[in-house]
This record gives sequence, structure tokens and C-alpha cells, in this order.
Amino acid sequence: MKLPFDLKDIKPGQFAYLTKRKLTNKEGIETGEIIVWKDKGQEKSQYVMKCPFCGDEHEGSALLVKRPYRLKCANCDKSITLPKLQKEAKKK
Ligand SMILES: [Zn+2]
Repeated sequence: MKLPFDLKDIKPGQFAYLTKRKLTNKEGIETGEIIVWKDKGQEKSQYVMKCPFCGDEHEGSALLVKRPYRLKCANCDKSITLPKLQKEAKKK
């Protein structure tokens, strides 16, 4: 997946967070991926993702306030729940 910026160009402290997560489909297989980041001082988070359901890659922005964070695939309209942005505890 391509980011709309070069990771090497990031200045320290530019982002409130930047994280990469695998996304699983219905069968629990990791077929997708998401990178979420938020610029400091911005309300909306931005993301690039590969949908685990349809494989479509796209980017967008979303206001992520309520956990668990959810996004909708712009292509297949399926709801995608983001794994925790914090350090993940052991899987269930
Ligand atoms: Zn999709």
C-alpha cells in the first residue's frame, strides 16, 4: 500500500498517531490492511486501506470518536472494525 506521503519526510511530532493494522475478513483471514494517521491539531483521521472483503484500495478521512472505530468500505459498503489503536492485548 502506498502512503500519500513519504515516511522519511515525517517530522517528529507531526502526527498524533500513525499506525498500521492488518484487517481480517469474515473468515478471520488477514486479507486487508489499513494505515491510519492523524495530524496534530486535526479532528479527522486519515487512512489508506485495502478492504479485507473486496480488496479495493482507497483512501479517505473519518472522524473516529467512538470505540471500536468503524469505517465503511467505499467500494463494497461493508463495515470494517478497526483493531485497537493502542498496543493490542492477546487475541481472544
Ligand atoms: Zn470493500
